[in-house]
Amino acid sequence: MASIYRGRFAPTPSGPLHFGSLIAATGSYLQARAQRGEWWLRIDDIDPPREQKGAVSSILSTLEEFGFEWDGEVLYQSKRQQRYQQVVEQLKGKGLAYACSCSRSSIQKKTGQKKGELVYPGFCREQPLQQCEDYSIRLRVDDGIIRFEDTIQGTISTNLAARFGDFVIQRRDGYFAYHLATGIDDAEQGITEVVRGADLLDSTPCQMLIQHQLGLPCPSYAHLPIACNHSGQKLSKQSHAPALDSSKATILLQKSLKFLGQMPPISLADATLDELWQWAIENWDINRVPAQVALE
Ligand SMILES: [Zn+2]
Repeated sequence: MASIYRGRFAPTPSGPLHFGSLIAATGSYLQARAQRGEWWLRIDDIDPPREQKGAVSSILSTLEEFGFEWDGEVLYQSKRQQRYQQVVEQLKGKGLAYACSCSRSSIQKKTGQKKGELVYPGFCREQPLQQCEDYSIRLRVDDGIIRFEDTIQGTISTNLAARFGDFVIQRRDGYFAYHLATGIDDAEQGITEVVRGADLLDSTPCQMLIQHQLGLPCPSYAHLPIACNHSGQKLSKQSHAPALDSSKATILLQKSLKFLGQMPPISLADATLDELWQWAIENWDINRVPAQVALE
């Protein structure tokens, strides 16, 4: 039996969907539907402090109003905590993960690194912690190159040890890291290709390493260009990207298709949402998606 294509869209409910989210949803949806594949919806709600009340229902209704149709039940990462904990214990048991009590400032002090993303060289690797200590759990990262072929961005190779060092998979507040939850869920949901924004390109090798350490399959990856505002900032809740306005769904979908290098003909200028989707599914070509899009 030929294996079916299975894609997904996995928004974080930290606020309503914006144009950057629409691009990720559109790209992943068309890549799945053009291959008569499935498109699953997952809510990445593993970080309650960052969540916004009402965001989940706003995300679901916006997707419906834009004409997205997902397969199966929506998966909520918040309901997968037990599984993530099991995996953390499994990795610890295999000696692949360990508790670390270092604070940001102590890592900076010991390594002389400035602000920003810190590379953690594994101070606590061989140090059994006292009980009741405040700690996070880190994954051991060995020196070596992780390489993959991104459908849009080309060959990506990263040495995770040099880039991040041993990275956190469970935070000191007990919440699970994005890499851990996403790496496990993509593999266990049987996702065959992850299509998402290139702002997550850096995190991909971390998820691949987790999948590898657990003996899970790695999906393939396609990272879409990032939408920026006029000041060059990535569209996000932090850059105050406006929420998608469903009354302008056809205009915004046209804009999203153009951003992704798909050129709906002029004859579709007044098309309905259904007509636009039909055209987009029939004519989708991922080879036309640019790796980057310059500012307008
Ligand atoms: Zn440490």
